[in-house]
Amino acid sequence: MSQTNNHKSYLTVVDDSKAPENFVPTAEISQAWKAVYKQFRGEFGEAVFRSWLKPLSLQAYYHGTLEVSVPTRFMKDWIQTNYAPRILEMAIEKNAEISRLEIVVIQKSLPMDDVEEAEETSPATKANANALAEEVELSSPLDQRFKFENFVVGQSNALSHAAALRLVESNAMPFNPLFIYGGVGLGKTHLMHAIAHALREKNPKKTVMYLSAEKFMFQFVKALRAKDTMAFKEVFRSVDVLMIDDVQFISGKESTQEEFFHTFNALIDQNKQIIISADRSPNDLQGIDDRLRSRLSWGLVADIQPTTYELRLGILKAKRDMLGVEIPDAVLEFLALKVTSNIRELEGALNRIAAHADISKDPITLETTQNVLQDLLRSHDRRITIDEIQRRVAEHYNLKVSDMHSARRSRNVARPRQVAMYLAKQLTARSLPEIGRKFGGRDHTTVMHAVRKIDELMEEDASFAQDVDVLRRALTG
Ligand code: ADP
Ligand code: MG
Repeated sequence: MSQTNNHKSYLTVVDDSKAPENFVPTAEISQAWKAVYKQFRGEFGEAVFRSWLKPLSLQAYYHGTLEVSVPTRFMKDWIQTNYAPRILEMAIEKNAEISRLEIVVIQKSLPMDDVEEAEETSPATKANANALAEEVELSSPLDQRFKFENFVVGQSNALSHAAALRLVESNAMPFNPLFIYGGVGLGKTHLMHAIAHALREKNPKKTVMYLSAEKFMFQFVKALRAKDTMAFKEVFRSVDVLMIDDVQFISGKESTQEEFFHTFNALIDQNKQIIISADRSPNDLQGIDDRLRSRLSWGLVADIQPTTYELRLGILKAKRDMLGVEIPDAVLEFLALKVTSNIRELEGALNRIAAHADISKDPITLETTQNVLQDLLRSHDRRITIDEIQRRVAEHYNLKVSDMHSARRSRNVARPRQVAMYLAKQLTARSLPEIGRKFGGRDHTTVMHAVRKIDELMEEDASFAQDVDVLRRALTG
């Protein structure tokens, strides 16, 4: 078919083309397709264009059917559901002869000259293994923005960042597994993708599989239903690097954990790298089998802490450069001061004021910023949660979050717990009984007592008062 036009001949791995032989598109049809290309790019933007339309190539044209190919089945499904109707519409506008769009998978692997080398690692030509991983819908696509060069390093994420770099740069395996943990929106996924990008660039022949724990479970359950767990096991156990994001998701899901544990062991035994992220440390993961918990902390456990003002400002400045929008420093400083919850919200706030400026054509000032973000800033003031308070307080006193709910009464645990209850009363609108429930089902009188006690201690002891104040400020921004 049309690939005979190519100078290099390819080994074709999959070819689902339905076109009769030699139905090469006419010049007019090629023209129409080019116009669709161009329009799509304008309509959906560069990122979508690059990920989805760019890899499409015009294969054939027959009886009103425009046949285009994509390299993987995953892409086909995605384009089919999300973009196909619009693409067809555009195509018809360009050339009224066209009446159907057929998306087919044609996977050309390597130019023939390279095949010999690749065959050493068959059956699945290794260079193609990453594509295959996506093909069977196991590896998730990586976000092009989530790379090392876009990751701003500060005190709070320095350790995880250094560990990630070390892992990528080292030729031996410096630690296995690498376990990265931290609160929501603090950059875990960004760092995971950055590692995956870098590893794939460094060694394209390695299969780097990245997916969320949720997806891992979904695939496992699907395999169970289809009575096809062998294939599932094989795929997972044949990768070189396995990356699982948000592993807390499998807590409490016993059979998934069991499978994950076996996969984990099999890979470690074969000296394959494993990289895990979670919203809390292995110790604080609840509903996880003890064997798994201990295995998770065998390698390096690195945390990402809540952001500092400097990091928030640094990220905003980097983001401003990327957007290429004029934003005064004072506005960035204001945002860094006010939006402290996480980086996702911080980016969201910046995007909003940039979008507003774009539409209104007004310059961005402190005043417009306050107006545009009114609701966000207000809700932000109110939205401190008890979970957040417990996490901060536990961190501050070097305890586990579970100590906040536990029955332990020793002073070094009980006092911080009282501080957390006190802050919960001060900073949230929750009632005493509600707070009690959040602290391991304690009685409201216990909370009341805690509030009084901390008040008293703050009166008596200035350094203690200062300590509590540091926590309060960290929480309120
Ligand atoms: P998590 O997975 O921890 O919930 P993400 O990795 O999804 O958080 O990060 C949320 C957003 O914040 C993403 O858009 C990400 O690019 C951005 N972000 C997080 N940390 C940084 C950083 N250090 N530098 C630049 N951007 C960051
Ligand atoms: Mg994430």
